[in-house]
Amino acid sequence: MTLSTLWVVAEPANGSFTTTSLELLSEARTLASSVAVVTWGEGAALAALAGEYGATTLYDVGNLNGALPAVPVAAAIASLVGGVGAPDAVLIPASYDGRDIAGRLSARLDRPVLTNVTGLSENSGLVTEHPVFGGTLTVKAKFTGEGPGIVVVRAKSFAVDSAGGAPAQVVAAPPGDTGASGTAMITASHVEERSGPKLEEAAVVVSGGRGLGEASKYAMIEEIAHLLHGAPGASRAIVDAGWVPYSHQVGQTGKTVKPTVYIACGISGATQHMVGMKGSKNIVAINKDADAPIFQIADLGIVGDVNTVLPALIDALKARA
Ligand SMILES: Cc1cc2nc3c(=O)[nH]c(=O)nc-3n(C[C@H](O)[C@H](O)[C@H](O)COP(=O)(O)OP(=O)(O)OC[C@H]3O[C@@H](n4cnc5c(N)ncnc54)[C@H](O)[C@@H]3O)c2cc1C
Repeated sequence: MTLSTLWVVAEPANGSFTTTSLELLSEARTLASSVAVVTWGEGAALAALAGEYGATTLYDVGNLNGALPAVPVAAAIASLVGGVGAPDAVLIPASYDGRDIAGRLSARLDRPVLTNVTGLSENSGLVTEHPVFGGTLTVKAKFTGEGPGIVVVRAKSFAVDSAGGAPAQVVAAPPGDTGASGTAMITASHVEERSGPKLEEAAVVVSGGRGLGEASKYAMIEEIAHLLHGAPGASRAIVDAGWVPYSHQVGQTGKTVKPTVYIACGISGATQHMVGMKGSKNIVAINKDADAPIFQIADLGIVGDVNTVLPALIDALKARA
């Protein structure tokens, strides 16, 4: 038995939907007989894209006129639930805005939220999967009350897979009066400086950990990532130490990555780190301790000092270029 209806909050970004939104759409259509997207702003023009990924309806919240999305989008979804009826669940990407939408929607509808979801299936209702205890166990959960369930899903939980469907039908879904909460405006936004691909989307990720010894050594990680056209990542230890920004963190409380090649340099392989990168196709680990846990999941292990191995790797890559 499939679910009847799922709604996916699809975040518009640079003329498309974010990759996580497309992942959710791809998965939703394998679970439900009907899928709709809820989007806003430039997302309204993406009916063809929404249809290509399996949505039959696109609910357009409209132009937000500089407001943060959470207030109007949660209000619009709540109003839709009252109008067209509740879907089985609303699937929301675990982004900053997505989490904000989920919280506000939960308060408006008085429905619970399941967060940090990495898997979905159907068994007399929607079943969610959540990694717990640093990713060593996976628990399954299910809503027992009336719909809609509100589900916040982590990036890279599903593959992006187009279905080639017809454009979705666009239906206006205005938020209505959002009161004082709708008056906060975005006054400035800053795009993070980045020269290579995004960490979550890079085919090669080179990550550094505490084994680098000091912040300045992270330059070697950036150089190797650059030479391999990849993105630099990090363990939480060096994010907490202030060597690199949080946006670089891979793991349970950071980003999930699934590149073709993941190179872990001076990273021990704590479960909280591995849960964010163990889905990589090929894992290379460089660590001076032959018993470091990272070697248990590495396809290629180099027991050695990063101060020797990384400069040699840089020289070899430069010689090849
Ligand atoms: C709730 C919670 C959430 C967490 N979330 C995350 C998360 O999202 N991501 C994350 O990464 N961590 C996370 N952690 C932290 C995690 O438990 C580890 O503390 C962290 O991953 C360790 O980082 P590290 O491997 O860089 O440092 P360490 O564990 O200190 O390991 C350093 C490694 O470098 C090696 N080394 C030392 N010198 C050299 C050298 N010269 N050459 C080569 N190798 C060398 C050592 O042998 C060692 O294996 C979380 C922890 C908790 C409790």
